[in-house]
Order: sequence, then structure tokens, then C-alpha cells
Amino acid sequence: MREKCGIFAAVTENAPRKAYYALLALQHRGQESAGISLWKHRIRTIAGRGLVSDVFKDAGIARMRSNTVIAHVRYSTSGSPIEIQPLETECCGKRIAVAHNGTLTNFQPLREKYEMLGVRFLHSVDSELLGISFLWHLRETGDEFRAMEAVFREIRGAYSVALLFDGRVLVARDPVGFRPLSYGRGDGHYFASEDSALRLFVDDVRDVRPGEVFLVSEDREDVESRVLVNENHHHCVFEYIYFARPDSVLDGTSVYSARVRMGRELARESPARGDLVIAVPDSGRAAALGFSQESGIPYAEGLIKNRYIGRTFITPGQFYRELKVKLKLSPVREVINGRRIVLVDDSIVRGTTMRRIVAMLRKAGAKEVHVRIASPPIRYPCYMGIDIPTRHELIAAFGGVENVRRVIGADSLAYLSVEGLRRAVGRKDLCMACLTGEYPEWAFRF
Ligand code: SF4
Repeated sequence: MREKCGIFAAVTENAPRKAYYALLALQHRGQESAGISLWKHRIRTIAGRGLVSDVFKDAGIARMRSNTVIAHVRYSTSGSPIEIQPLETECCGKRIAVAHNGTLTNFQPLREKYEMLGVRFLHSVDSELLGISFLWHLRETGDEFRAMEAVFREIRGAYSVALLFDGRVLVARDPVGFRPLSYGRGDGHYFASEDSALRLFVDDVRDVRPGEVFLVSEDREDVESRVLVNENHHHCVFEYIYFARPDSVLDGTSVYSARVRMGRELARESPARGDLVIAVPDSGRAAALGFSQESGIPYAEGLIKNRYIGRTFITPGQFYRELKVKLKLSPVREVINGRRIVLVDDSIVRGTTMRRIVAMLRKAGAKEVHVRIASPPIRYPCYMGIDIPTRHELIAAFGGVENVRRVIGADSLAYLSVEGLRRAVGRKDLCMACLTGEYPEWAFRF
């Protein structure tokens, strides 16, 4: 499972340099491309493929002078992989740059509608529709907030979005709040997918509310925010389970604390007889700690992750695929050998990685391997901005837990229940569609 994107926007001194640092803090949300659009009498976009540090060099950043920017890191789930953001488009005689996190569920029919009205789309990615629809309604209403209200009524799906046009930044979060978005103020106005990226610059940080719109002008004197639409909220539960940084606080809930509670709930629901609790690093760490605290079984670092392998070239073929797994993760034999291991991870998607890890632990001398997963089985696809394999590739989609246990080769396997997850996150306003198959109605009301 991969998060689609991270966005950032700011109206402040040295905005491009701050955007660069914020994108580094948001790098986990997208590693395929990065970009910054700035306003200097017109829109200028600098973007490219690769990590933030590949795309931007110090000299280039120093030459980017503006106090008004939007920025983006991307992993593509729709459109061509070369559709880097922020993307620029135009409509009704105006140009606009768009940085979007999410997926639009009624993109195709709306694109066809606008094309019938004579609008020419410049890109294949759904995010362009947000810019087109906004400019269209801006011409109709002559007011940014009324234009965005029309966008909310028209476009369904998940969108935390930053728009740059006419020396202004407009930032909005869809009315149900699928994807996170935060606002910070201090020596200017800042917005980011996660508050941890804003805390680099300011302390006064809060969530952008679902259905809320911010409009900030280049001179920073004209700042306004309004909640335009009220719907039932559905925050993506996988932000808490896996996507977001553990040091982020999303909609008032600490990601780290939620993960520790997931581990505690899991230990209460599905205890295991083991000598040591170990985590699949890094995403399983907080839950493993929670499991250890609740069960009283000591926690140890039994698997070591190589952080520098990500973009290494690997020769095709079975031998090299296995080698890549070994390069990525290796067992600490002194910890594993002769012990009954309780292995905690955040989720199982296809099951292939977990099967390799279990085999690796056995080879390192584990007497037993009991796998505990800090989320319920993933059985359904996501249409709200997360890249989940097709249903046929999801190991838990067909067949029960025993089938998964056999495939991964564990001595026992248990998942956290849906109710246990809800208790751990501590809120009811969650999207859990990929776990339950119950999709939030608003996203498909068109
Ligand atoms: S379906 Fe799953 S991944 Fe997609 S928004 Fe809902 S909880 Fe998140």
C-alpha cells in the first residue's frame, strides 16, 4: 500500500527554501517526484522525477525568490507516472497550479462534462479537474469561497488541495476529511499534509477542518478561512496504522499513541506465548512496543532495516529478488536463535514480504514464530487516494486467517479486530472501507 502524495503551501519569507525542507519532512508520502510552484508576477514551477534531494539543489533553491508557494511530493496512482505536481493548467483565461493529495471518484464524467463545454485538459491526471472546476466557478461567481463551495458540491472523492493563482494561495480539505491537512501560523501562513512538517517552522498548528477553505494573499494581510460544507467525517484509518509519521498528530489524535494502543488491544485480544516481541521495522515498532507493554513479554530489536537500499538497482530474477529482501532486512541471530518470537507488523497486503520474514526468522534459529497484525485483514480496494493492489492480489480477500497463516508459514497468526482498531484510534469518524467494504456514501454520491 502506498500513499499517493504529500502537499505543502506557504505564504512567508523565503518560501521556496521552506518548501524544500517541508518536502523533505513529507518524503515518506511520495518518492517518485517532487515540485514547487511559486508566484513572482506569474506562476513558475520547478519539478522533476526522484527524491526531493535529487530534484532540488542548493543553488537552484537560492535562485527561487518568492513568498508564495505550493509544493508536492508524489507517488502516482492515477494518470501517467510522469504527471509531476504541482501541475499547471488554465481555464477561463486564468492560469493555476495544483498540488493535490487524494483521488477524485467522479473525475471521468466531470472531465467529459467540461470538455463538452469547450474546456481543454492539458494533463491526464484527475488532480487537474480541481483547478479547472475552481476557475470555472470563479468566473461564474466572482468569489473564491463561493467558487470552492461549488467545487465541494461538484467533485467527490478524497482531496486535500493547494491552488496557486493571481498571487494567492487557496487551500482546501474535502468535506469528509479523508486525507489529513494542517495549518500553522507564525511568521506567515503554512499548510502541510502532516503537522510534523509544519513544526519545522511554527508552533501554532491546528488541523484544517473537513470542508474548510483558506485563502491567503501574497501580501499576507488578507487571510480568511471558512468551513463551507458539513458532512459526516471519514478520516482514513490507514494514516494512523501506517502512512503518517509517528510524530504527527492527525485531527487531534497522536499517530504514535494510536499505534501503541493498537499493539495493546492486539495483545488483549490475541495473546501469544513467546519469549520476545519483535517488530517489522519501522512501521510495526510502536505497535510491537504496545504489545510488549500489555503482555509483559520483553521487546527486542530482532530485525535490522537497511535504510539506504530503496533506489538501488537490482538485477531481475529470483536470486536477486531474494537478495534484495536480505539487503533490506536482516535478523539479529543472537536475539532470535532458540527463542519463541512474537512478530508484530502493522498490516499484511500480499503476504509475500511476511512469508520471507517468517522464513528468515526460522533460518536465524527461531523456535516458533507467532505473527500478530495491528490492523484487521485488508479485503477491499481503496478509491480514496491509496494504492492498494487489486482484490485478487490481497492475500486476505478470499479465504480466512488460517489460509493466510499457512501461506506465510507462521505457527500462529492473529489480526486486530475492527472494534479493537476503533478503540485504539479512539474515534468513530473513520474510513475503514478497505477493511469492512463499507464505503463512505459521500464519495460516491454523484
Ligand atoms: S479505503 Fe482504506 S486506505 Fe482508503 S481511505 Fe478508506 S481507510 Fe484509507
